[in-house]
Amino acid sequence: MFGRAPKKSNNTKYYELLGVSKNASQDDLKKAYRKSAIKNHPDKGGDPEKFKEIAQAYEVLSDADKREIYDQYGEDALKEGMGSGGGGGHNPFDIFESLFGGSPFGGAGGSSRGRRQRRGEDVIHPLKVSLEDLYNGSSKKLSLSRNVLCSKCKGKGSKSGASMKCRGCQGSGMKVSIRHLGPSMIQQMQHPCNECKGTGETISDKDRCQQCKGEKVVQGKKVLEVHVEKGMQNGQRVTFPGEADEAPDTVTGDIVFVLQQKEHPKFKRKGDDLFIEHTLTLTEALCGFQFILTHLDNRQLLIKSQPGEVVKPDQFKAINDEGMPMYQRPFMKGKLYIHFTVDFPESLHTEQCKAIETVLPARATTQITDMELDECEETTLHAVNIEEEMRRKQQAAQEAYEEDDDDMHAGAQRVQCAQQ
Ligand SMILES: [Zn+2]
Ligand SMILES: [Zn+2]
Repeated sequence: MFGRAPKKSNNTKYYELLGVSKNASQDDLKKAYRKSAIKNHPDKGGDPEKFKEIAQAYEVLSDADKREIYDQYGEDALKEGMGSGGGGGHNPFDIFESLFGGSPFGGAGGSSRGRRQRRGEDVIHPLKVSLEDLYNGSSKKLSLSRNVLCSKCKGKGSKSGASMKCRGCQGSGMKVSIRHLGPSMIQQMQHPCNECKGTGETISDKDRCQQCKGEKVVQGKKVLEVHVEKGMQNGQRVTFPGEADEAPDTVTGDIVFVLQQKEHPKFKRKGDDLFIEHTLTLTEALCGFQFILTHLDNRQLLIKSQPGEVVKPDQFKAINDEGMPMYQRPFMKGKLYIHFTVDFPESLHTEQCKAIETVLPARATTQITDMELDECEETTLHAVNIEEEMRRKQQAAQEAYEEDDDDMHAGAQRVQCAQQ
């Protein structure tokens, strides 16, 4: 089914057939294929053999694996590798139609030449949800306005369903204007045709659809109900296929909602787990505590320590099955972690210390002998804000480093100058 290749290793013929360079992108290939397939389409009197070859070339080059084999070993390797059918088993008309949707020469007045099913753009909306919504599940109704195909003219824009090739641009949708910049200089500019708004077709005033004024689409309202399911995550997408703006000869895109979880004042979420902060007084940390926590579904949880249990500063404790429900398995839940901070008293009186010393282990200071004390130097402890001090020190170090860096560059430059 191929024209004889002059050499076994010919690996440029397909590119030549499509008229593209060897590093053409997928987009370039598709455009080039479209152009030459239309030109050589048998419906339009083109050579069927040539049309087949073009389809074959495109079929190979548009497939990354086949293209690689072709680039390396040429057409023959491809034939061997793909068995007796040589990969040419595909109907070239199928290839053309799968890409551009049907014969390119049908339609009223020939104006739909080359028209194909484009895919409309997806419309993406952020959707704010609370942590309560994600814990309990909820549904939100949203009203959106969108373009829909005009029902009266079924998206044709005209009463008769016909349209004419735009005279302003001969149906190409583009106009070229020429500006004279000087006696021997002109500038050519291409811009969308203003008469047909770049569509390449016009509808006569008499024939124009009254409902859409020939625009083919009208504004419509659509109410969508988004089901936020238990356990969904921040950033998760909920898709409504084919609900975006409609346009003629276009596969309608999707409306996509992207969940955005609002900050919660009390609970933080990490995966299926929840975290809360809780501050205890020193007495609570030592002698026991209890408090009530209102959960995300308004249940009241009593949280309390075991008798005799001591909580240390920065300690974590967890309650099983009180975290987030798992997405699509809402009966399974993560953990609820509690991070404890202990609030120490700022100061104590001598009497308070004595009282504490009666129950807590003795102080280490009492174990230093008088002789040892005599040999020590006195010091004074100052209060510091350690984070602030460390930050300042790091900043100073950074500045010193940058100065060093400048010196080095300057040095390097001097060396270069010396070499010249
Ligand atoms: Zn036009
Ligand atoms: Zn209409």
